[in-house]
Amino acid sequence: MSSEFPHIAEQLDRVRRGYADGVVRAIGDRETQLRQLRRFLVEREDDLTSALHSDLGKSSFEAYSTEIGFTIKEIDLALGEIRRWTKPRKTKLPFHLKPGAAEIVQEPLGTVLIIAPWNYPLQLLLAPLVPALAAGNTAILKPSEIAPATAAVVERLLPDYLDGRAVQVVTGGVPETTRLLEERFDHVFYTGNGTVGRVVMRAAAEHLTPVTLELGGKSPAIVAADARLDVAARRIAWGKWVNAGQTCVAPDYVLVEESVISPLLTALGHAIDEFYGEDPMSSDDYGRIVSDRHFDRLTGLLDADGGTVAIGGRSDRSERYLAPTVVTDVDTDGPLMSEEIFGPILPVIPVPSIDAAIEFVNFRPKPLALYVFTERDAVTEKVIGHTSSGGVTVNHTLLHLAVADLPFGGVGESGMGGYHGEHGFDVFSHAKPVLHRRTRPDPGIAYPPYGGLKAKLLRKLL
Ligand code: NAD
Repeated sequence: MSSEFPHIAEQLDRVRRGYADGVVRAIGDRETQLRQLRRFLVEREDDLTSALHSDLGKSSFEAYSTEIGFTIKEIDLALGEIRRWTKPRKTKLPFHLKPGAAEIVQEPLGTVLIIAPWNYPLQLLLAPLVPALAAGNTAILKPSEIAPATAAVVERLLPDYLDGRAVQVVTGGVPETTRLLEERFDHVFYTGNGTVGRVVMRAAAEHLTPVTLELGGKSPAIVAADARLDVAARRIAWGKWVNAGQTCVAPDYVLVEESVISPLLTALGHAIDEFYGEDPMSSDDYGRIVSDRHFDRLTGLLDADGGTVAIGGRSDRSERYLAPTVVTDVDTDGPLMSEEIFGPILPVIPVPSIDAAIEFVNFRPKPLALYVFTERDAVTEKVIGHTSSGGVTVNHTLLHLAVADLPFGGVGESGMGGYHGEHGFDVFSHAKPVLHRRTRPDPGIAYPPYGGLKAKLLRKLL
């Protein structure tokens, strides 16, 4: 396999040499690359927007807010903070190690591999690149082949902006990713599903390469009987049907206290009408399923589940359109509830109490996100304190991932490691402890032989 794809070997060689030659070692050089990345996003917005539209039917507003603008924000934050992040941090020195000085130096890891999925094909490729560059690494970017238009634009245009010794783009599918994973990297940052996450981790183990795995899962939204149902419905609808449900932190299903299921369903119906009109297919703000394979998977899930389609359900394969769909009477051990839906189908499941909702969540693998809707702090605290998830937003959906100071990532089945803002910088840095000593004084008490009074004194000191 290693002899296949000679261009990959060449590309790797360039960024490895780039690292050895220090192309992004100086902070000024890192800033230059970050500014160039920003220029790419600003000057090529139209090319990127049409690629995202072609891959996922994204509206230009959604393309900007969730992909281009989101990444620009990460760049601006990094540019504003890079001098502080990279500054060595002095620490205290214990008495017996004085005189001297101790500090933590942030060291780049080397050459890193970033593998992105198709659902936010630009953001999830470039948002990790920002901290990788800020921390002084060179990188190979592997865009997803399932979003081919975006991958092609990045491959064609990004090299006009970034130093080829700092960043290389490798396109292609599973064979190319497999080939890359044979190589020794200094970090692998993978976003995608857990099955491939295991492949990535196994390959990385061969070289003892550390990994960040940003995976998915079934993220629940819990709606308490006291919640403001109109607001909860609007916010669940917003988080679920952005990008046609193909968002890793989208609410996968709803657990609602049974006394309010009926008004919640009505409110969800209103929210869908309000957002996308009577025919969401003709709304500019409603996206499409990424591929025929995923379209067939989703419609297959709908057909296989014996539930009741309470809202939506319409589909059109020629357009890869699947309406915002709400399903009730769902079999909790059936197909809709056994894998991440990752599409516009929302099961709404009644539960007798918040305790039952907590038990339902804890019975399943740890999700990437969890949402709770309630007016009562006691309910919020109980849910947060008794469940485990990558992150939580209370009384809204998705938004915790937009707070740069909050680490974004999963736990257990939903992944390992978190990034955004300084947390991303930490992922791509080695916090190296350095102790400085002078050669004078050099008292003999520190060295053997240790006997009698000397040993007693040293024991006291230590
Ligand atoms: P995908 O199919 O595009 O795969 C991602 C990458 O893995 C691609 O570059 C592909 O070439 C590579 N790949 C696929 N199969 C491989 C194999 N057998 N060996 C080696 N490489 C392989 O994306 P996907 O996995 O379908 O993405 C969707 C998943 O990603 C969902 O589970 C979603 O929840 C998750 N996700 C997580 C986050 C997050 O931030 N935690 C964000 C977005 C998506």
